[in-house]
Amino acid sequence: MSKTLFGVALIALASHAVAATQYLRIGKLIDGKGKVWTNVAVVVENDRIRGVEPEGPPPSGADVIDLRRYTGIPGMIDAHTHMTYYWDQTPGTTPWAQASALQSSVTVFLSQENARKTLETGVTTVRDLGSSEYADIAMRDLINRGAMAGPRMFVSGYGLGITRRHARPGYVFPPGGTADGVAEVLRVVRQQVAAGADVIKMYGSTGSAQDVSGFQTFTFDEIKAAADAAHGFGRKLAVHSYGSDGARDAVRAGADSIEHATDMDEQTIAEMARRGTFYVPTIDHNRYYVEYRQQFGYSEEVAARLNDYIQRNLETARRAHKAGVRFAMGSDAVFTMFGQNTRELEWFVKAGMTAEQALVTATTNGAALLGMEKSLGAVAPGYFADIVAVDGDPLQDIGVVIRNVRWVMKGGKVVVDRTSVAK
Ligand SMILES: [Zn+2]
Repeated sequence: MSKTLFGVALIALASHAVAATQYLRIGKLIDGKGKVWTNVAVVVENDRIRGVEPEGPPPSGADVIDLRRYTGIPGMIDAHTHMTYYWDQTPGTTPWAQASALQSSVTVFLSQENARKTLETGVTTVRDLGSSEYADIAMRDLINRGAMAGPRMFVSGYGLGITRRHARPGYVFPPGGTADGVAEVLRVVRQQVAAGADVIKMYGSTGSAQDVSGFQTFTFDEIKAAADAAHGFGRKLAVHSYGSDGARDAVRAGADSIEHATDMDEQTIAEMARRGTFYVPTIDHNRYYVEYRQQFGYSEEVAARLNDYIQRNLETARRAHKAGVRFAMGSDAVFTMFGQNTRELEWFVKAGMTAEQALVTATTNGAALLGMEKSLGAVAPGYFADIVAVDGDPLQDIGVVIRNVRWVMKGGKVVVDRTSVAK
């Protein structure tokens, strides 16, 4: 009896959500399919886009949302985050040390703040590359069931690392993810997939936080084993490499994306262009460390090294873009960087992209890297209703996307609305 009633209540809730057709009037729309529309209407049904059409009378019973003052773009994709790296800014504590002291369940709860700040930047999807105790999987599932507000997450569980991990003062590496030799690499990849990971992350070199060294860690054979195992499970492989050697071997081994990587040689860059390997340079991540160095306790000497790394990273991005390598926008956001997820786009313009090309890295390309190109990264029929309204023209100035987000819809639900805030 009570079971039946409960069932009825659930259906009632669901059908209430189903009934709402939404009719969005948008002044200008960059649809992610190569078309720019003016005075357009986007019809949203449930969590999906039903149609994009010239503005006309809305369907009867539809909720009408007026975005005629704005430019619409697809919900953006941040291809490199660490959503479960949370720091509460308590004086006397540092981010890395606090992160290892928090219980996983507490981390998941507190990380809602990172998720909310990410949505506010117009990022409605993230590829989260490294977490402990499967806090990322918990967050992903809580968001998917509607219990937590946040971007849809594609997560990796533990990133694979060799026994000798990079130093993060105060941070104790959890035992998960450690793999030495091909057999252990296979075991750890399988463990992540069994735990529910969507993507496999591998630390192919030293370098993280204040450490900008880029010594290769995993061998070619180990990376190849990870790539083949991941692909066998229908997963993609993201390889972290600060330096050129790990990147070279990762590309040849069949990695789907190379994270960070400075000083890549011409052959590696040409090979990436040929294979379609994505480059996620995360240049802005080190800008963040320099700017927020007091929070981390980094010295001026560390800041100088980070700045040098930024310059080499930018130069590598410039060469890769020129060579035709596909880019995806990844912030590598950690701790207090959430809310700055899209600042990477300005570096891409500095590296030689047009504003339009930069926007593609955060929409179409991000979706392709996730293998979600048929449902994410565009405002088109059948796609998830992930839409962002910005004030201004992003094709003239990419800064509009970074600073002027006014309204965000994710899966048909309005998650950010600043349209009524006085200018
Ligand atoms: Zn990272």
